[in-house]
Amino acid sequence: MPEPTVLFTEEEIQRRVRELGAAITADYRGRPPVLVSILKGGAIFLADLFRAIDLPVRVDFMSITSYGGGARPSGVVRILKDLDQDVGGEDVLVVEDIIDTGLTLSYLLTALRARGPASLEVCTLLDKSARRIPPLDIRYRGFECPDRFVVGYGLDHAERYRNLPMILSVGSQAELDEDSSSLARFLGR
Ligand code: 5GP
Repeated sequence: MPEPTVLFTEEEIQRRVRELGAAITADYRGRPPVLVSILKGGAIFLADLFRAIDLPVRVDFMSITSYGGGARPSGVVRILKDLDQDVGGEDVLVVEDIIDTGLTLSYLLTALRARGPASLEVCTLLDKSARRIPPLDIRYRGFECPDRFVVGYGLDHAERYRNLPMILSVGSQAELDEDSSSLARFLGR
C-alpha cells in the first residue's frame, strides 16, 4: 500500500467548516433548515457544521444501506432508520461526508423530494466529482477530493479511523483491505 498522506489537516477542515456554516447562516436567515445527516460518517461533520450555523436549525438522522453491500454502490438503498420528523414544507439541507459516484445521494434525494419539502439542498464536506455518475446539484462543498480512498473525520475503513481529526489519503480501498500495516505505522498504533 502506498504511504498514507494527510489530505486535509484538522485546522483546514475546521476553517472550512466555519466558512460553510457562515454561508449557510447567511443563505437561510429567516428560514432555518432541517439538517439531515446520513449515519454514521456524516454525523461527525454534522456535529461541527451544526455548531457553526448561527440559526435555530434542527437536525435529524437517517441510516441507509446499499443493496448488495460491498464497495460498489448500486444506487439502490434501503432505509434502516428514517427521519423522526415530517419534512413536508420544510427547508431541508442534506449533510454528507463524501459524495463519490453520487448514486446513493441521488436515490436519497428522490425519496426526500417525494415528501414535499419547501426546498432541498446538499452540503458535502468532500466531493469526488471525477467519479460522479448522475448529475447532482451540490449547493455547498467543503473540498474537491481526489479519486483516492480516504479515511478520517467520519470516514471509515471497516468501521475504524472515523475518530481521526484529519483526513488521510490511503491509496485504494482494496490495498487497505489487503494490508493496513502502513496506516497503523503512520498513526503510531
Ligand atoms: P456513492 O453512492 O456516492 O458512490 O457512495 C457514497 C458513499 O461511499 C459515502 O457515503 C461513503 O460511505 C462511501 N465512500 C465513497 N468514497 C469513500 C472514501 O474515499 N472513503 C470512505 N471511507 N468511504 C467512501
